[in-house]
Amino acid sequence: MHDVIVIGLGAMGSAAAWQLARRGARVLGLEQFGEGHDRGSSHGRTRVIRRVYSEGEVYMPLLNRAYALWAAMERESGETLLVRTGGLDIAPRDAASLANAHACAVSGDVAHEVLDAATVRLRHPEISLPDGFAAVYAPDSGQLRSDHANTWMRTAARSAGALLRFGTPVTGWRKHGTHIEVDTAAGTESAHRLVIAAGAWAGTLLPEIDPALTVERQVVGWFESVDGRSFDDTPVFQVEPGDRGRFYIQPGRGGESTKIGLYGHLGERGPEMRAGRPPDAADEAALRAGLARWLPAANGRLEHMEQCRFTRTTDDRFIIGTWPGDDAVTLVSPCSGHGFKFAPAIGEAAAQLALGESTTVDLSPFAVARFL
Ligand SMILES: Cc1cc2nc3c(=O)[nH]c(=O)nc-3n(C[C@H](O)[C@H](O)[C@H](O)COP(=O)(O)OP(=O)(O)OC[C@H]3O[C@@H](n4cnc5c(N)ncnc54)[C@H](O)[C@@H]3O)c2cc1C
Repeated sequence: MHDVIVIGLGAMGSAAAWQLARRGARVLGLEQFGEGHDRGSSHGRTRVIRRVYSEGEVYMPLLNRAYALWAAMERESGETLLVRTGGLDIAPRDAASLANAHACAVSGDVAHEVLDAATVRLRHPEISLPDGFAAVYAPDSGQLRSDHANTWMRTAARSAGALLRFGTPVTGWRKHGTHIEVDTAAGTESAHRLVIAAGAWAGTLLPEIDPALTVERQVVGWFESVDGRSFDDTPVFQVEPGDRGRFYIQPGRGGESTKIGLYGHLGERGPEMRAGRPPDAADEAALRAGLARWLPAANGRLEHMEQCRFTRTTDDRFIIGTWPGDDAVTLVSPCSGHGFKFAPAIGEAAAQLALGESTTVDLSPFAVARFL
């Protein structure tokens, strides 16, 4: 009998397994695909971390905790996991997202500057920004080395005694008296507690929550600069054009290509987006449109594209909580396309909930019950 079974070993499940094992729990992690696979939401070299949050102040306690845990992980691993490039949130001057980012910075006492378009152009002439736009700049935003972080969390989980099994799809689970049984092709496992961190597949394991979840196809692309330049001093930025979507751009440093994605991308949604389809010319055109408009010098040769998936909730807020009426079952992960930066804090929260500890962060805004 295990103390806790974690279903799904993407960023959230890996973080939960690590945080559970370090607390001394006997953990079994089960993942349907291979280790480090690219069929979920957590693969890839980098993710953006933003120190101010245009999605709203509700995320700030979790974000503060995540920053503290990223620093702890760096100390423990001896690796740089967070590269502080600075970050810009750019939008039309009167956009709600800018007001949100600014409110977060002020109430959280986070270092920031509010910049008009002319100041952004002066500092970063490579960013093509018309008048009428403004930005909130946060020096502590940057890039997370996501593949390294995922690998490190799994290594740390194993070192603390967790058993992690890959290529092991969970086909069903149920309560059986005081414990939980989890079925796989290799047999049935039992535990006192269950953490479901199944990303885009969460609704297949918890049908009651499925109507609140939408799986959305995403494609990100890496493009070389047009003139061989490196964007070593350009912050990561996201820009809301005002007409549609929101681009997120990680300008290429040290000779690397620039990464770009578009929230919502081509608008392809539905259960079939768990499998998705390979990137094609329409994906490239959508991404190039963003570079052409906002960072034209990065609109060079395509290095490669990758597909990924977002799992959005109907109110776009995360789900982190125990199942109403059954605190043996914890659900984390559908993170509406911006969860990676929170992974260590969500893993910690999952471990605390599963072990019946009080949580470091108030999780009530993320409760499951709002969807049931
Ligand atoms: C293109 C893209 C760009 C992003 N950019 C950013 C960013 O810049 N900053 C940021 O903070 N966030 C970003 N995100 C969001 C972030 O990456 C995700 O929120 C996060 O990775 C989700 O992790 P997860 O563990 O919930 O999901 P996943 O990584 O999908 O993990 C869930 C796992 O559960 C497994 N699983 C499911 N069902 C079963 C089953 N029945 N049995 C066994 N295993 C199962 C799956 O195979 C999968 O490995 C981005 C996401 C994408 C797709």
